[in-house]
Amino acid sequence: MVPGPRLDVVARPVILTVDDDPAVSRAVARDLRREYGEHHRIVRAESGPAALDALREIALRGEQVAVILADQRMPRMSGVEFLEQAMDLFPRARRVLLTAYADTEAAITAINVVDLDHYLLKPWDPPEEKLYPVVDSLLTAWRESSDRPAATIRIVGNRWSSRSYELRDLAARNQVSYDFFRAEEPEGARLLEAAGADPDLLPIVITEDGRTLVQPTDAQVAEAAGLATTASEEVYDLVVVGGGPGGLGASVYGGSEGLRTVLVESRATGGQAGTSSRIENYLGFPDGVSGDQLTMRARLQAEKFGTEVLTTRTVTALEPKGRARVVRFDDGSEITAHAVVLATGVAYRMLDCPGLEDHTGQGVFYGAAATEAASCAAQDVYVVGGANSAGQAAMNFSRHAAKVVMLVRGPSLQASMSHYLIEQIEANPRIEVRTCTEVCAAAGTDHLEKLTLRDRNTGAEETVEASWLFVFIGAAPRTDWLDGVVARDARGFVLTGPDLPREENGRAPAGWEPDRDPFHLETSVPGVFAVGDVRADSVKRVASAVGEGAMAVSLVHRWLENR
Ligand SMILES: Cc1cc2nc3c(=O)[nH]c(=O)nc-3n(C[C@H](O)[C@H](O)[C@H](O)COP(=O)(O)OP(=O)(O)OC[C@H]3O[C@@H](n4cnc5c(N)ncnc54)[C@H](O)[C@@H]3O)c2cc1C
Repeated sequence: MVPGPRLDVVARPVILTVDDDPAVSRAVARDLRREYGEHHRIVRAESGPAALDALREIALRGEQVAVILADQRMPRMSGVEFLEQAMDLFPRARRVLLTAYADTEAAITAINVVDLDHYLLKPWDPPEEKLYPVVDSLLTAWRESSDRPAATIRIVGNRWSSRSYELRDLAARNQVSYDFFRAEEPEGARLLEAAGADPDLLPIVITEDGRTLVQPTDAQVAEAAGLATTASEEVYDLVVVGGGPGGLGASVYGGSEGLRTVLVESRATGGQAGTSSRIENYLGFPDGVSGDQLTMRARLQAEKFGTEVLTTRTVTALEPKGRARVVRFDDGSEITAHAVVLATGVAYRMLDCPGLEDHTGQGVFYGAAATEAASCAAQDVYVVGGANSAGQAAMNFSRHAAKVVMLVRGPSLQASMSHYLIEQIEANPRIEVRTCTEVCAAAGTDHLEKLTLRDRNTGAEETVEASWLFVFIGAAPRTDWLDGVVARDARGFVLTGPDLPREENGRAPAGWEPDRDPFHLETSVPGVFAVGDVRADSVKRVASAVGEGAMAVSLVHRWLENR
Protein backbone atom coordinates (compact mmCIF):
# COMPACT_ATOMS: atom_id res chain seq x y z
CA MET A 1 0.00 0.00 0.00
CA VAL A 2 1.19 3.51 -0.74
CA PRO A 3 0.66 5.68 2.34
CA GLY A 4 -1.00 9.07 1.97
CA PRO A 5 0.58 12.20 3.42
CA ARG A 6 0.80 12.59 7.21
CA LEU A 7 -2.33 13.67 9.01
CA ASP A 8 -2.69 17.41 8.51
CA VAL A 9 -3.69 19.79 11.26
CA VAL A 10 -7.21 19.71 9.81
CA ALA A 11 -8.00 16.14 8.76
CA ARG A 12 -9.44 15.96 5.28
CA PRO A 13 -11.99 13.22 4.59
CA VAL A 14 -10.42 10.25 2.86
CA ILE A 15 -11.18 8.85 -0.60
CA LEU A 16 -9.77 5.33 -0.70
CA THR A 17 -9.13 3.32 -3.85
CA VAL A 18 -8.01 -0.31 -4.12
CA ASP A 19 -6.93 -2.11 -7.30
CA ASP A 20 -4.44 -4.98 -7.64
CA ASP A 21 -3.07 -3.66 -10.94
CA PRO A 22 -0.40 -1.11 -9.91
CA ALA A 23 -0.74 0.86 -13.14
CA VAL A 24 -4.53 1.17 -12.79
CA SER A 25 -4.21 1.88 -9.07
CA ARG A 26 -1.82 4.74 -9.75
CA ALA A 27 -4.00 6.09 -12.56
CA VAL A 28 -7.13 6.14 -10.37
CA ALA A 29 -5.30 7.83 -7.53
CA ARG A 30 -3.81 10.39 -9.94
CA ASP A 31 -7.23 11.24 -11.42
CA LEU A 32 -8.77 11.53 -7.95
CA ARG A 33 -5.93 13.62 -6.57
CA ARG A 34 -6.13 16.03 -9.49
CA GLU A 35 -9.80 16.78 -8.86
CA TYR A 36 -10.23 16.21 -5.12
CA GLY A 37 -6.73 16.40 -3.64
CA GLU A 38 -7.16 19.89 -2.24
CA HIS A 39 -10.00 18.98 0.13
CA HIS A 40 -9.60 15.21 0.45
CA ARG A 41 -6.84 12.80 1.32
CA ILE A 42 -6.47 10.20 -1.43
CA VAL A 43 -5.30 6.82 -0.11
CA ARG A 44 -4.54 3.92 -2.43
CA ALA A 45 -3.95 0.24 -1.80
CA GLU A 46 -3.14 -2.69 -4.05
CA SER A 47 -5.07 -5.50 -2.32
CA GLY A 48 -8.19 -5.93 -0.19
CA PRO A 49 -6.29 -6.86 3.03
CA ALA A 50 -3.93 -3.87 2.59
CA ALA A 51 -6.91 -1.57 2.09
CA LEU A 52 -8.56 -2.92 5.23
CA ASP A 53 -5.34 -2.24 7.18
CA ALA A 54 -5.41 1.30 5.84
CA LEU A 55 -9.04 1.75 6.90
CA ARG A 56 -8.30 0.48 10.42
CA GLU A 57 -5.45 2.99 10.71
CA ILE A 58 -7.71 5.78 9.47
CA ALA A 59 -10.34 4.77 12.05
CA LEU A 60 -7.72 4.81 14.81
CA ARG A 61 -6.66 8.32 13.83
CA GLY A 62 -10.28 9.42 14.06
CA GLU A 63 -10.43 10.46 10.43
CA GLN A 64 -13.44 10.03 8.18
CA VAL A 65 -13.80 8.10 4.96
CA ALA A 66 -16.13 9.61 2.40
CA VAL A 67 -15.85 7.32 -0.64
CA ILE A 68 -14.33 3.88 -1.27
CA LEU A 69 -13.64 2.67 -4.82
CA ALA A 70 -12.78 -1.03 -5.08
CA ASP A 71 -11.83 -3.16 -8.07
CA GLN A 72 -13.98 -6.30 -8.29
CA ARG A 73 -11.38 -8.72 -9.71
CA MET A 74 -8.61 -8.94 -7.12
CA PRO A 75 -6.82 -12.22 -6.39
CA ARG A 76 -7.01 -12.70 -2.60
CA MET A 77 -10.20 -10.85 -1.84
CA SER A 78 -12.80 -9.68 -4.37
CA GLY A 79 -14.02 -6.09 -4.37
CA VAL A 80 -17.38 -7.14 -2.95
CA GLU A 81 -15.75 -9.14 -0.14
CA PHE A 82 -13.57 -6.15 0.69
CA LEU A 83 -16.50 -3.69 0.65
CA GLU A 84 -18.49 -5.98 2.94
CA GLN A 85 -15.74 -5.75 5.58
CA ALA A 86 -15.11 -2.06 4.92
CA MET A 87 -18.78 -1.39 5.73
CA ASP A 88 -18.18 -2.54 9.31
CA LEU A 89 -15.45 0.07 9.75
CA PHE A 90 -17.04 2.97 7.87
CA PRO A 91 -20.73 2.17 7.38
CA ARG A 92 -21.56 5.56 5.90
CA ALA A 93 -18.73 5.75 3.39
CA ARG A 94 -20.15 5.66 -0.14
CA ARG A 95 -19.19 2.49 -2.02
CA VAL A 96 -18.23 2.12 -5.69
CA LEU A 97 -17.25 -1.09 -7.44
CA LEU A 98 -14.86 -0.83 -10.41
CA THR A 99 -15.76 -3.49 -12.94
CA ALA A 100 -14.92 -4.65 -16.42
CA TYR A 101 -17.87 -5.04 -18.77
CA ALA A 102 -17.92 -8.79 -18.15
CA ASP A 103 -18.43 -8.27 -14.39
CA THR A 104 -21.60 -6.18 -14.66
CA GLU A 105 -23.77 -9.11 -13.63
CA ALA A 106 -21.64 -9.67 -10.51
CA ALA A 107 -21.87 -5.98 -9.71
CA ILE A 108 -25.64 -5.95 -9.97
CA THR A 109 -25.90 -9.00 -7.73
CA ALA A 110 -23.56 -7.30 -5.26
CA ILE A 111 -25.82 -4.30 -4.95
CA ASN A 112 -27.87 -6.03 -2.30
CA VAL A 113 -24.92 -7.62 -0.51
CA VAL A 114 -22.90 -4.47 0.11
CA ASP A 115 -25.56 -1.86 -0.56
CA LEU A 116 -23.46 -0.55 -3.42
CA ASP A 117 -23.93 3.10 -4.37
CA HIS A 118 -22.54 2.77 -7.86
CA TYR A 119 -20.55 0.55 -10.20
CA LEU A 120 -18.14 2.08 -12.68
CA LEU A 121 -17.10 0.40 -15.87
CA LYS A 122 -13.37 0.53 -16.63
CA PRO A 123 -11.87 2.41 -18.42
CA TRP A 124 -13.65 5.67 -17.57
CA ASP A 125 -11.86 8.12 -19.83
CA PRO A 126 -12.41 11.00 -19.84
CA PRO A 127 -12.72 11.21 -16.02
CA GLU A 128 -14.48 14.61 -16.34
CA GLU A 129 -17.43 12.81 -17.92
CA LYS A 130 -17.41 9.39 -16.36
CA LEU A 131 -15.61 9.46 -13.01
CA TYR A 132 -15.95 12.93 -11.48
CA PRO A 133 -19.75 13.31 -11.79
CA VAL A 134 -20.17 10.01 -9.91
CA VAL A 135 -17.68 10.92 -7.17
CA ASP A 136 -19.15 14.44 -6.92
CA SER A 137 -22.64 13.13 -6.24
CA LEU A 138 -21.35 10.56 -3.75
CA LEU A 139 -19.40 13.22 -1.87
CA THR A 140 -22.52 15.39 -1.73
CA ALA A 141 -24.55 12.45 -0.47
CA TRP A 142 -21.91 11.63 2.13
CA ARG A 143 -21.75 15.24 3.33
CA GLU A 144 -25.55 15.28 3.62
CA SER A 145 -25.59 12.03 5.60
CA SER A 146 -25.42 12.03 9.37
CA ASP A 147 -21.65 11.41 9.16
CA ARG A 148 -21.32 15.14 9.19
CA PRO A 149 -19.24 16.18 12.17
CA ALA A 150 -21.43 19.01 13.47
CA ALA A 151 -25.17 18.56 13.89
CA THR A 152 -27.39 21.50 12.94
CA ILE A 153 -29.78 20.86 15.81
CA ARG A 154 -29.67 18.85 19.03
CA ILE A 155 -32.85 17.20 20.24
CA VAL A 156 -33.27 16.17 23.87
CA GLY A 157 -36.25 14.00 24.70
CA ASN A 158 -37.49 10.77 26.21
CA ARG A 159 -36.46 7.70 24.27
CA TRP A 160 -40.00 6.46 23.67
CA SER A 161 -41.84 9.75 23.29
CA SER A 162 -43.78 9.97 20.03
CA ARG A 163 -43.02 13.66 19.68
CA SER A 164 -39.26 13.04 20.03
CA TYR A 165 -39.58 10.50 17.26
CA GLU A 166 -41.57 12.94 15.08
CA LEU A 167 -38.89 15.60 15.43
CA ARG A 168 -36.09 13.16 14.56
CA ASP A 169 -38.09 11.95 11.58
CA LEU A 170 -38.76 15.52 10.47
CA ALA A 171 -35.05 16.36 10.64
CA ALA A 172 -33.93 13.16 8.92
CA ARG A 173 -36.44 13.44 6.10
CA ASN A 174 -35.45 17.06 5.45
CA GLN A 175 -31.75 16.11 5.43
CA VAL A 176 -31.13 18.25 8.52
CA SER A 177 -28.26 16.79 10.54
CA TYR A 178 -29.19 16.27 14.18
CA ASP A 179 -28.02 14.61 17.36
CA PHE A 180 -30.53 13.00 19.67
CA PHE A 181 -29.90 12.79 23.41
CA ARG A 182 -32.06 10.77 25.74
CA ALA A 183 -33.14 12.92 28.65
CA GLU A 184 -32.66 10.01 31.03
CA GLU A 185 -28.97 9.59 30.13
CA PRO A 186 -26.09 11.72 31.52
CA GLU A 187 -25.34 13.70 28.35
CA GLY A 188 -29.04 14.51 27.87
CA ALA A 189 -29.42 15.55 31.51
CA ARG A 190 -26.33 17.75 31.22
CA LEU A 191 -27.74 19.49 28.13
CA LEU A 192 -31.09 20.03 29.85
CA GLU A 193 -29.36 21.59 32.82
CA ALA A 194 -27.13 23.76 30.63
CA ALA A 195 -30.19 24.95 28.70
CA GLY A 196 -32.07 25.63 31.96
CA ALA A 197 -34.92 23.48 30.59
CA ASP A 198 -37.70 21.84 32.58
CA PRO A 199 -37.39 18.01 32.25
CA ASP A 200 -41.20 17.84 32.33
CA LEU A 201 -41.47 19.92 29.15
CA LEU A 202 -39.81 17.73 26.56
CA PRO A 203 -38.64 17.46 23.87
CA ILE A 204 -36.41 20.48 23.53
CA VAL A 205 -34.36 21.49 20.52
CA ILE A 206 -31.06 23.33 20.84
CA THR A 207 -30.23 25.29 17.71
CA GLU A 208 -26.82 25.77 16.13
CA ASP A 209 -26.61 29.29 17.60
CA GLY A 210 -27.44 28.01 21.09
CA ARG A 211 -31.14 28.89 21.40
CA THR A 212 -33.41 26.48 23.25
CA LEU A 213 -36.85 25.70 21.77
CA VAL A 214 -39.19 24.05 24.28
CA GLN A 215 -41.71 21.59 22.78
CA PRO A 216 -41.32 23.31 19.41
CA THR A 217 -43.69 23.04 16.46
CA ASP A 218 -42.47 21.50 13.21
CA ALA A 219 -42.28 24.97 11.67
CA GLN A 220 -40.10 26.28 14.53
CA VAL A 221 -37.70 23.37 14.08
CA ALA A 222 -37.65 23.86 10.29
CA GLU A 223 -36.86 27.55 10.72
CA ALA A 224 -34.13 26.78 13.26
CA ALA A 225 -32.59 24.39 10.75
CA GLY A 226 -32.55 27.05 8.06
CA LEU A 227 -35.48 25.76 5.97
CA ALA A 228 -37.84 28.35 4.50
CA THR A 229 -41.38 28.27 5.89
CA THR A 230 -42.88 31.49 4.54
CA ALA A 231 -43.24 32.70 0.98
CA SER A 232 -41.12 35.67 -0.03
CA GLU A 233 -43.75 37.00 -2.46
CA GLU A 234 -47.52 37.32 -2.52
CA VAL A 235 -48.08 36.40 -6.16
CA TYR A 236 -46.53 33.54 -8.14
CA ASP A 237 -47.03 32.09 -11.60
CA LEU A 238 -47.30 28.62 -10.14
CA VAL A 239 -47.97 27.15 -6.70
CA VAL A 240 -47.17 23.46 -6.36
CA VAL A 241 -48.88 21.80 -3.40
CA GLY A 242 -46.98 18.73 -2.15
CA GLY A 243 -43.27 18.01 -2.38
CA GLY A 244 -43.19 14.32 -3.42
CA PRO A 245 -41.80 13.24 -6.80
CA GLY A 246 -44.79 14.76 -8.64
CA GLY A 247 -44.45 18.14 -6.93
CA LEU A 248 -40.67 18.13 -7.27
CA GLY A 249 -41.01 17.28 -10.96
CA ALA A 250 -43.38 20.22 -11.48
CA SER A 251 -41.07 22.50 -9.47
CA VAL A 252 -37.94 21.62 -11.44
CA TYR A 253 -39.70 22.16 -14.76
CA GLY A 254 -41.64 25.21 -13.57
CA GLY A 255 -38.47 26.88 -12.30
CA SER A 256 -36.35 25.88 -15.29
CA GLU A 257 -38.93 27.25 -17.71
CA GLY A 258 -38.96 30.64 -16.10
CA LEU A 259 -42.19 30.45 -14.07
CA ARG A 260 -42.08 32.10 -10.65
CA THR A 261 -42.72 28.90 -8.75
CA VAL A 262 -43.25 28.07 -5.09
CA LEU A 263 -43.49 24.55 -3.69
CA VAL A 264 -45.42 24.04 -0.47
CA GLU A 265 -44.77 20.87 1.52
CA SER A 266 -46.47 20.02 4.79
CA ARG A 267 -43.74 17.79 6.20
CA ALA A 268 -40.67 16.87 4.17
CA THR A 269 -39.84 16.95 0.48
CA GLY A 270 -39.71 13.49 -1.07
CA GLY A 271 -43.17 12.39 0.02
CA GLN A 272 -43.58 8.62 0.03
CA ALA A 273 -40.57 8.17 -2.23
CA GLY A 274 -38.42 9.94 0.37
CA THR A 275 -39.16 7.08 2.78
CA SER A 276 -38.07 4.34 0.38
CA SER A 277 -34.77 2.69 1.24
CA ARG A 278 -34.04 1.80 -2.37
CA ILE A 279 -35.94 2.62 -5.53
CA GLU A 280 -34.77 0.12 -8.12
CA ASN A 281 -37.01 0.89 -11.08
CA TYR A 282 -36.38 4.60 -11.60
CA LEU A 283 -34.93 5.35 -15.01
CA GLY A 284 -31.20 5.95 -15.09
CA PHE A 285 -30.28 4.29 -11.79
CA PRO A 286 -29.42 0.67 -12.67
CA ASP A 287 -28.01 0.13 -9.20
CA GLY A 288 -31.00 1.74 -7.50
CA VAL A 289 -31.21 4.98 -5.59
CA SER A 290 -32.34 5.64 -2.05
CA GLY A 291 -35.40 7.84 -1.67
CA ASP A 292 -33.56 10.44 0.38
CA GLN A 293 -30.78 10.79 -2.20
CA LEU A 294 -33.24 11.19 -5.05
CA THR A 295 -35.19 13.73 -3.02
CA MET A 296 -32.15 15.70 -1.99
CA ARG A 297 -30.97 16.00 -5.58
CA ALA A 298 -34.42 16.94 -6.89
CA ARG A 299 -34.84 19.59 -4.23
CA LEU A 300 -31.41 21.08 -4.97
CA GLN A 301 -32.28 21.03 -8.66
CA ALA A 302 -35.59 22.83 -8.08
CA GLU A 303 -33.87 25.46 -5.93
CA LYS A 304 -31.11 25.87 -8.49
CA PHE A 305 -33.78 26.86 -11.01
CA GLY A 306 -35.17 29.44 -8.61
CA THR A 307 -38.16 27.56 -7.16
CA GLU A 308 -38.90 28.54 -3.57
CA VAL A 309 -39.41 25.53 -1.33
CA LEU A 310 -41.51 25.98 1.82
CA THR A 311 -41.41 23.16 4.36
CA THR A 312 -43.83 22.34 7.22
CA ARG A 313 -46.62 24.36 5.63
CA THR A 314 -49.96 22.69 4.97
CA VAL A 315 -52.38 24.03 2.40
CA THR A 316 -55.92 23.89 3.76
CA ALA A 317 -57.97 25.70 1.11
CA LEU A 318 -58.02 26.52 -2.57
CA GLU A 319 -60.18 29.34 -3.88
CA PRO A 320 -60.57 30.43 -7.52
CA LYS A 321 -60.89 34.25 -7.58
CA GLY A 322 -61.54 35.37 -11.15
CA ARG A 323 -58.43 34.29 -13.02
CA ALA A 324 -56.36 34.07 -9.87
CA ARG A 325 -56.03 30.91 -7.78
CA VAL A 326 -55.68 31.57 -4.04
CA VAL A 327 -54.02 28.99 -1.83
CA ARG A 328 -54.59 29.28 1.94
CA PHE A 329 -52.45 27.86 4.75
CA ASP A 330 -53.37 26.41 8.12
CA ASP A 331 -52.46 29.69 9.88
CA GLY A 332 -54.85 31.69 7.65
CA SER A 333 -52.15 33.28 5.49
CA GLU A 334 -52.40 32.92 1.72
CA ILE A 335 -50.59 33.23 -1.58
CA THR A 336 -52.02 33.94 -5.00
CA ALA A 337 -51.00 32.25 -8.23
CA HIS A 338 -51.95 32.12 -11.87
CA ALA A 339 -51.91 28.32 -11.78
CA VAL A 340 -51.79 25.50 -9.22
CA VAL A 341 -50.45 21.96 -9.40
CA LEU A 342 -51.92 19.60 -6.79
CA ALA A 343 -49.36 16.89 -5.97
CA THR A 344 -50.50 15.87 -2.51
CA GLY A 345 -50.11 12.12 -3.05
CA VAL A 346 -51.51 9.68 -0.57
CA ALA A 347 -50.93 8.94 3.11
CA TYR A 348 -50.63 5.58 4.84
CA ARG A 349 -53.77 3.90 6.04
CA MET A 350 -53.78 3.26 9.76
CA LEU A 351 -54.07 -0.29 11.07
CA ASP A 352 -57.10 -0.51 13.30
CA CYS A 353 -56.85 -2.87 16.24
CA PRO A 354 -56.85 -2.51 20.04
CA GLY A 355 -53.68 -1.11 21.58
CA LEU A 356 -52.00 -0.08 18.35
CA GLU A 357 -52.81 3.61 18.37
CA ASP A 358 -51.36 4.00 21.89
CA HIS A 359 -47.99 2.85 20.59
CA THR A 360 -47.73 4.84 17.38
CA GLY A 361 -44.20 6.26 17.44
CA GLN A 362 -43.39 3.96 20.38
CA GLY A 363 -42.52 0.81 18.49
CA VAL A 364 -45.38 1.07 15.95
CA PHE A 365 -44.55 3.05 12.82
CA TYR A 366 -46.30 3.78 9.54
CA GLY A 367 -43.80 3.65 6.72
CA ALA A 368 -40.17 2.79 6.87
CA ALA A 369 -39.13 5.10 9.77
CA ALA A 370 -35.50 5.15 8.69
CA THR A 371 -34.48 6.86 11.92
CA GLU A 372 -35.46 3.73 13.86
CA ALA A 373 -33.58 1.16 11.75
CA ALA A 374 -30.46 1.27 13.92
CA SER A 375 -32.50 0.87 17.13
CA CYS A 376 -33.85 -2.45 15.84
CA ALA A 377 -30.36 -3.95 15.58
CA ALA A 378 -30.27 -7.62 16.62
CA GLN A 379 -33.98 -7.63 17.51
CA ASP A 380 -37.05 -9.09 15.80
CA VAL A 381 -38.92 -6.72 13.49
CA TYR A 382 -42.49 -7.23 12.27
CA VAL A 383 -43.57 -5.74 8.94
CA VAL A 384 -47.25 -5.66 7.98
CA GLY A 385 -48.09 -5.62 4.26
CA GLY A 386 -47.49 -7.55 1.08
CA ALA A 387 -46.74 -4.84 -1.48
CA ASN A 388 -43.40 -3.49 -2.72
CA SER A 389 -43.10 -0.90 0.03
CA ALA A 390 -43.33 -3.63 2.69
CA GLY A 391 -40.88 -5.81 0.76
CA GLN A 392 -38.32 -3.03 0.45
CA ALA A 393 -38.61 -2.28 4.14
CA ALA A 394 -38.18 -5.96 5.06
CA MET A 395 -35.03 -6.15 2.93
CA ASN A 396 -33.70 -2.99 4.53
CA PHE A 397 -34.42 -4.05 8.12
CA SER A 398 -32.90 -7.50 7.50
CA ARG A 399 -29.49 -5.84 7.38
CA HIS A 400 -29.71 -4.90 11.06
CA ALA A 401 -32.44 -7.00 12.68
CA ALA A 402 -32.05 -10.51 14.06
CA LYS A 403 -35.14 -11.57 12.13
CA VAL A 404 -37.81 -9.83 10.04
CA VAL A 405 -41.29 -11.34 10.02
CA MET A 406 -43.57 -10.19 7.22
CA LEU A 407 -47.25 -10.45 8.09
CA VAL A 408 -49.28 -10.78 4.91
CA ARG A 409 -53.08 -11.04 4.86
CA GLY A 410 -53.24 -12.76 1.45
CA PRO A 411 -52.17 -16.31 0.62
CA SER A 412 -48.94 -15.23 -1.12
CA LEU A 413 -46.87 -12.26 -2.21
CA GLN A 414 -47.28 -12.98 -5.92
CA ALA A 415 -50.35 -10.83 -6.48
CA SER A 416 -49.03 -7.72 -4.75
CA MET A 417 -45.23 -7.58 -5.05
CA SER A 418 -42.74 -7.25 -7.92
CA HIS A 419 -41.06 -10.47 -8.95
CA TYR A 420 -37.51 -9.20 -8.33
CA LEU A 421 -38.36 -8.33 -4.74
CA ILE A 422 -40.03 -11.68 -4.06
CA GLU A 423 -36.84 -13.38 -5.24
CA GLN A 424 -34.70 -11.23 -2.94
CA ILE A 425 -36.97 -11.96 0.02
CA GLU A 426 -37.03 -15.70 -0.65
CA ALA A 427 -33.25 -15.77 -0.81
CA ASN A 428 -32.86 -13.83 2.44
CA PRO A 429 -32.46 -16.17 5.43
CA ARG A 430 -33.35 -13.42 7.90
CA ILE A 431 -36.83 -12.84 6.47
CA GLU A 432 -39.79 -15.05 7.33
CA VAL A 433 -43.07 -14.53 5.44
CA ARG A 434 -46.26 -15.44 7.29
CA THR A 435 -49.15 -15.43 4.85
CA CYS A 436 -52.87 -15.39 5.78
CA THR A 437 -51.88 -13.61 9.00
CA GLU A 438 -53.10 -10.34 10.52
CA VAL A 439 -52.39 -8.32 13.65
CA CYS A 440 -55.39 -8.23 15.97
CA ALA A 441 -54.02 -6.61 19.16
CA ALA A 442 -50.99 -4.84 20.59
CA ALA A 443 -49.85 -4.30 24.16
CA GLY A 444 -47.04 -2.69 26.13
CA THR A 445 -46.39 0.00 28.75
CA ASP A 446 -44.41 2.93 27.37
CA HIS A 447 -43.31 0.93 24.28
CA LEU A 448 -44.71 -1.92 22.20
CA GLU A 449 -44.03 -5.26 23.91
CA LYS A 450 -46.49 -7.81 22.51
CA LEU A 451 -48.52 -8.46 19.37
CA THR A 452 -51.41 -10.85 18.95
CA LEU A 453 -51.50 -12.43 15.51
CA ARG A 454 -54.47 -14.21 13.98
CA ASP A 455 -54.37 -16.96 11.34
CA ARG A 456 -57.04 -15.91 8.86
CA ASN A 457 -57.70 -19.49 7.78
CA THR A 458 -58.14 -21.13 11.17
CA GLY A 459 -58.88 -18.12 13.41
CA ALA A 460 -56.14 -19.35 15.78
CA GLU A 461 -54.48 -16.55 17.77
CA GLU A 462 -50.88 -16.34 18.98
CA THR A 463 -49.21 -13.71 21.15
CA VAL A 464 -45.58 -12.92 20.34
CA GLU A 465 -42.96 -10.72 22.02
CA ALA A 466 -42.49 -7.76 19.66
CA SER A 467 -40.91 -4.34 20.11
CA TRP A 468 -41.03 -3.18 16.51
CA LEU A 469 -43.93 -3.10 14.06
CA PHE A 470 -43.77 -1.29 10.72
CA VAL A 471 -47.05 -0.98 8.84
CA PHE A 472 -47.45 -0.69 5.05
CA ILE A 473 -51.10 -1.37 4.26
CA GLY A 474 -51.88 0.91 1.38
CA ALA A 475 -52.75 4.52 1.31
CA ALA A 476 -55.55 7.01 0.72
CA PRO A 477 -55.55 10.60 -0.58
CA ARG A 478 -55.97 13.43 1.90
CA THR A 479 -58.12 15.75 -0.18
CA ASP A 480 -60.99 16.67 2.17
CA TRP A 481 -59.88 20.29 1.97
CA LEU A 482 -60.73 20.26 -1.75
CA ASP A 483 -64.33 19.21 -1.12
CA GLY A 484 -66.76 21.30 -3.16
CA VAL A 485 -63.91 23.00 -5.05
CA VAL A 486 -62.49 20.37 -7.41
CA ALA A 487 -64.26 17.20 -8.57
CA ARG A 488 -63.06 14.00 -6.86
CA ASP A 489 -64.03 10.36 -7.17
CA ALA A 490 -65.78 8.41 -4.41
CA ARG A 491 -62.44 7.59 -2.73
CA GLY A 492 -61.24 11.19 -2.77
CA PHE A 493 -58.85 10.98 -5.73
CA VAL A 494 -58.86 14.08 -7.94
CA LEU A 495 -60.46 13.71 -11.37
CA THR A 496 -58.68 15.24 -14.36
CA GLY A 497 -59.07 15.75 -18.12
CA PRO A 498 -60.99 12.96 -19.83
CA ASP A 499 -62.06 11.44 -16.48
CA LEU A 500 -64.04 14.51 -15.42
CA PRO A 501 -67.82 13.97 -15.32
CA ARG A 502 -69.45 15.59 -18.35
CA GLU A 503 -72.63 17.59 -18.63
CA GLU A 504 -75.46 16.03 -20.59
CA ASN A 505 -74.28 17.57 -23.87
CA GLY A 506 -71.17 15.41 -23.39
CA ARG A 507 -68.75 18.29 -23.59
CA ALA A 508 -67.30 20.14 -20.64
CA PRO A 509 -67.75 19.33 -16.92
CA ALA A 510 -70.47 21.17 -14.98
CA GLY A 511 -69.58 24.80 -14.34
CA TRP A 512 -66.69 24.71 -16.83
CA GLU A 513 -66.23 28.19 -18.38
CA PRO A 514 -63.39 28.11 -20.94
CA ASP A 515 -64.28 27.52 -24.55
CA ARG A 516 -62.20 24.35 -24.75
CA ASP A 517 -62.06 20.90 -23.20
CA PRO A 518 -60.05 20.49 -20.00
CA PHE A 519 -56.38 19.67 -20.61
CA HIS A 520 -55.26 16.16 -19.83
CA LEU A 521 -54.12 16.77 -16.21
CA GLU A 522 -56.48 19.66 -15.56
CA THR A 523 -59.05 19.40 -12.77
CA SER A 524 -62.63 20.71 -12.85
CA VAL A 525 -61.16 24.15 -12.01
CA PRO A 526 -59.37 25.66 -15.03
CA GLY A 527 -55.71 26.36 -14.31
CA VAL A 528 -55.60 23.85 -11.44
CA PHE A 529 -53.83 20.60 -12.35
CA ALA A 530 -53.35 17.32 -10.48
CA VAL A 531 -50.38 14.97 -10.82
CA GLY A 532 -49.05 11.77 -9.27
CA ASP A 533 -50.75 9.50 -6.77
CA VAL A 534 -53.50 11.97 -5.84
CA ARG A 535 -54.89 11.83 -9.38
CA ALA A 536 -57.69 9.33 -9.99
CA ASP A 537 -56.50 6.20 -11.82
CA SER A 538 -52.87 7.30 -11.80
CA VAL A 539 -50.01 4.81 -11.95
CA LYS A 540 -48.55 4.74 -8.45
CA ARG A 541 -44.89 5.06 -9.39
CA VAL A 542 -42.10 7.58 -8.88
CA ALA A 543 -41.41 7.87 -12.61
CA SER A 544 -45.04 8.52 -13.52
CA ALA A 545 -45.42 11.15 -10.80
CA VAL A 546 -42.26 12.92 -12.02
CA GLY A 547 -43.41 12.65 -15.64
CA GLU A 548 -46.83 14.06 -14.84
CA GLY A 549 -45.21 16.91 -12.89
CA ALA A 550 -43.17 17.81 -15.96
CA MET A 551 -46.15 17.47 -18.28
CA ALA A 552 -48.36 19.63 -16.05
CA VAL A 553 -45.92 22.52 -16.48
CA SER A 554 -46.33 22.46 -20.26
CA LEU A 555 -50.12 22.53 -19.72
CA VAL A 556 -49.69 25.44 -17.31
CA HIS A 557 -47.98 27.34 -20.14
CA ARG A 558 -50.94 26.63 -22.44
CA TRP A 559 -53.34 27.83 -19.74
CA LEU A 560 -51.33 31.01 -19.19
CA GLU A 561 -51.19 31.75 -22.93
CA ASN A 562 -54.91 31.32 -23.56
CA ARG A 563 -56.78 32.31 -20.45
C1 LIG B 1 -41.93 2.78 1.09
C2 LIG B 1 -42.30 3.05 -0.35
C3 LIG B 1 -41.51 2.53 -1.36
C4 LIG B 1 -41.84 2.81 -2.70
N1 LIG B 1 -41.02 2.31 -3.67
C5 LIG B 1 -41.26 2.62 -4.96
C6 LIG B 1 -40.37 2.16 -5.97
O1 LIG B 1 -39.39 1.45 -5.72
N2 LIG B 1 -40.64 2.53 -7.25
C7 LIG B 1 -41.71 3.32 -7.59
O2 LIG B 1 -41.85 3.66 -8.75
N3 LIG B 1 -42.57 3.75 -6.64
C8 LIG B 1 -42.37 3.42 -5.34
N4 LIG B 1 -43.25 3.84 -4.37
C9 LIG B 1 -44.40 4.66 -4.78
C10 LIG B 1 -43.97 6.12 -5.01
O3 LIG B 1 -43.18 6.55 -3.92
C11 LIG B 1 -45.18 7.02 -5.18
O4 LIG B 1 -45.90 6.58 -6.29
C12 LIG B 1 -44.75 8.48 -5.37
O5 LIG B 1 -44.04 8.96 -4.25
C13 LIG B 1 -45.96 9.38 -5.61
O6 LIG B 1 -45.51 10.69 -5.70
P1 LIG B 1 -46.47 11.94 -5.46
O7 LIG B 1 -45.63 13.16 -5.63
O8 LIG B 1 -47.68 11.80 -6.28
O9 LIG B 1 -46.98 11.83 -3.95
P2 LIG B 1 -46.28 11.59 -2.55
O10 LIG B 1 -44.96 10.94 -2.71
O11 LIG B 1 -47.31 10.93 -1.71
O12 LIG B 1 -46.02 13.07 -1.99
C14 LIG B 1 -47.06 13.92 -1.64
C15 LIG B 1 -46.53 15.02 -0.73
O13 LIG B 1 -47.53 16.00 -0.54
C16 LIG B 1 -47.50 16.47 0.81
N5 LIG B 1 -48.82 17.00 1.13
C17 LIG B 1 -49.98 16.30 1.24
N6 LIG B 1 -51.01 17.14 1.52
C18 LIG B 1 -50.48 18.40 1.57
C19 LIG B 1 -51.04 19.69 1.82
N7 LIG B 1 -52.34 19.85 2.01
N8 LIG B 1 -50.21 20.76 1.84
C20 LIG B 1 -48.88 20.60 1.60
N9 LIG B 1 -48.31 19.40 1.36
C21 LIG B 1 -49.09 18.31 1.34
C22 LIG B 1 -47.14 15.22 1.60
O14 LIG B 1 -46.57 15.56 2.85
C23 LIG B 1 -46.15 14.53 0.66
O15 LIG B 1 -44.82 14.91 0.93
C24 LIG B 1 -42.97 3.59 -3.03
C25 LIG B 1 -43.78 4.08 -2.00
C26 LIG B 1 -43.45 3.82 -0.67
C27 LIG B 1 -44.32 4.36 0.42
